[in-house]
Parts: sequence; structure tokens; C-alpha cells
Amino acid sequence: MGIAIISPGRDVTVWVENIKKIDQKIRIQVYPDISDDNNVEAVILWQHPKGILDRFPNLKLVCSMGAGVDHILSDKSIPHNLPITRIVDSKLTFSMTNYVIMGVLNLHRQIDRYKSDKNRRVWDMSNPELPISVGVMGVGELGGDVIEKLQFMGISVAGLGNTIKENSGYPYFDRSRTDEFLKSINVLVCMLPLTPETEGILNIDFFRRCKKGTYLINVARGKHLVEMDLLKALDEGFISGALLDVFQQEPLPEDHPFWEREEITITPHIASVTNPEAAAPQIVENYHRMLNNQPLVNKIDRNKGY
Ligand code: NDP
Repeated sequence: MGIAIISPGRDVTVWVENIKKIDQKIRIQVYPDISDDNNVEAVILWQHPKGILDRFPNLKLVCSMGAGVDHILSDKSIPHNLPITRIVDSKLTFSMTNYVIMGVLNLHRQIDRYKSDKNRRVWDMSNPELPISVGVMGVGELGGDVIEKLQFMGISVAGLGNTIKENSGYPYFDRSRTDEFLKSINVLVCMLPLTPETEGILNIDFFRRCKKGTYLINVARGKHLVEMDLLKALDEGFISGALLDVFQQEPLPEDHPFWEREEITITPHIASVTNPEAAAPQIVENYHRMLNNQPLVNKIDRNKGY
């Protein structure tokens, strides 16, 4: 019995090597060269062809190659009782936190302004720091770390989550208090999982509830943002600019209007990339736990969708 890796178009050699390094007895088949369907007890997925899991009669475990599981849950053919795990990794968190802090500090210390001043040979010492108050939507593994590090730096923070939390150590708002959250911040960081509730959450009605001039950072998923509504919100002044790592369509099409907008900074979904060396041990551990009927680590709640 063994594992199948299904991630079309991606070279997964490094995943195979890292799994073998831990347990060389595990038989690994890689899509599309999966010849023994009965042998597959666990799958590791990234953007798999929908419906493909029906092929594996002995499948007992589904592992995401990344922190998000939206790419798996969008496959409605996956039975509800099949456990799904995701990657939670300190290196992934480290990179994500650094990316968001980079975005926040670039705004706070106005690096774009000084680049433009330099190009025009301008020496302008006025207003060197923009006042910022950062709100993080989704304070889980990744968002929670961003809040902690920003707080440590002395930056004003607030968090928005799904459920009521006591004693968070920072101003925390559950989603029924979204307006209060939005009125208390001027930098909005989206770190939500993509679920039916959060898809399209960053839309024009939402932006109009923000303080005028709020800056947006989206590092979660492209589908959180209604992209044309961001352009509207920029034109209306509710949003002053955006740092975007994720898009509805990736790679971002060449004729997409975002490329033309000076207020929008674009990175190609690199905020935080899964490191197979760090992820493989979690997957192997869960594989062994599954074989031994032990509780899985980093298992998602199928009802919540994250
Ligand atoms: P977690 O599951 O640990 O945290 C999710 C958080 O979102 C929880 O705090 C949850 O609240 C909150 N939440 C869920 N639904 C809502 C809602 N409707 N309204 C408000 N809050 C909500 O996820 P991670 O922090 O590990 O990851 C977040 C996402 O980041 C991933 O799903 C993935 O899509 C994205 N990502 C992007 C990467 C990139 O390179 N751009 C890399 C890695 C991840 P509660 O605690 O109350 O349940």
C-alpha cells in the first residue's frame, strides 16, 4: 500500500525524495503514471483533476500540499467522511509574516514615494511616517503570527475571526463586529481561508464600509477579491492602494487592468511557498497515524471548510 502524488504539471521529484528519506518502504506513485489504483491509501494533492479520487477504492487520507484546502474542497466528488489534512509549518509562517510585514512597512515608511522622489532628484523630508493601524482578517496559524510580530514591533493591530475569542491579547472582533473592525484600521490584510462564506468577501460594499484611504494586502486567495470592485474602490477613494499576491486567474493575464494601476503592487503568488523538506515529515507522520488508527495532525474541519 502507498501514496499517490497528484499535482499536474509540477515536478514533484523533491517531494518523492523527501518522503523516501523518512520512510523508504512507502510506495509512491506520481500522476499521471499511476498504474496500481488499489495500492493508493493516501493522496497528496495540488490542483488535482476533479473526480480522480473515485479511482482509488482503498483511499483513507487526503493531504494538501499547502496550507489551503480550497483546491481540494472544490471537488464535490470527495466523500464527506474522508479526512483532509493541510500543511502547518514554521517556515511557511515565517515567509508569510515577512511578506506582510514588508508590505506594511513599505507603506508606513513610504518606500514608493522615495523611489519616485529619487527618480525626480527630490529631497522631501516632510511627513516621513504614515500613521498605520493594521487589521488582519483571519487570525489562524498565519494571521495570528502576523499579529504577534506586528504587535512586538509596536504597530497597532486588530484581528477579525469567525468565532468569539476571549483574552486574545489584542483587539479582536468576531465577524458580527466587522464594521467596528474596519473602522478601527487603515491597513486591511486578508489572510482568510477560501470558503463559501469568504469567497468574494472583498467587494465594493465591503470596501465602502472601510475608512477612506484604507490600504489592502491580499495574501490569501484571488477569489476573495472581486477584482473589478477593487478598481472601483480605488477610484472612489475607499482603498488607497493594494499589495496583491493572489489573483482570480494565475498567472495574471497580460491584458489585466491591474498591471496598469500604479497604486497596485503585484507579486506572483510567492508570499509563502510550501517547502517539501518541511512538509514531507508531516505527511509521512499522518500516513503512519492513518495506518495505526491514531488521530491525524493538522486535520481540517470539513464542516467549516478550513
Ligand atoms: P487557519 O485555518 O489556521 O486560519 C483561518 C482563520 O480564518 C481562522 O482564524 C478563522 O477564524 C478565520 N476565518 C475563517 N472564516 C472566516 C470568516 N468567514 N470571517 C472571519 N474569519 C474567518 O489558516 P492559515 O492561517 O493557515 O491560512 C490562511 C490561508 O492563507 C490559507 O487558507 C491559504 O488560502 C492562504 N495561504 C496563502 C499563501 C500564499 O503564498 N499567498 C501561502 C499559504 C497560505 P476562527 O479562528 O474563528 O475559526
